[in-house]
Amino acid sequence: MAETIFTKIMNREIPADIVYEDDISLAFKDINPQAPVHLLIIPKKEIATINDIEEGDRELVGHLYWVAAKLAKEMGFADDGYRVVMNCGENSGQTVFHIHLHLLAGKPLGWPPYTDKL
Ligand code: 5GP
Repeated sequence: MAETIFTKIMNREIPADIVYEDDISLAFKDINPQAPVHLLIIPKKEIATINDIEEGDRELVGHLYWVAAKLAKEMGFADDGYRVVMNCGENSGQTVFHIHLHLLAGKPLGWPPYTDKL
């Protein structure tokens, strides 16, 4: 897959507010936050979309959720609740093709309006 801006962040080629790193993942603040807390949690392995996750990546993907819960506890909002979401492809609005969890917290979170509903 083509290298994305997230690989540049991982390699410290462009700056980011990194809040967590281990041997297989990195977490940093979203540049355009949609909530008081908006972190992105990425695997260091370059995987473009959810559709590209292979059998051997199952533990890696689970690890991203473990990091989300760890950060929620350490940052003190685990008990208030939070949202963890991963976009996939055009209809989801995915813009960076290196899988990432969005970790959103710090306010009650709604869903986007669905105006086509009957
Ligand atoms: P997606 O829409 O692909 O699920 O989410 C990509 C996210 O990456 C967006 O929320 C966007 O604000 C964030 N983002 C894009 N470019 C950068 C960047 O250079 N630095 C940081 N920290 N976040 C970025």
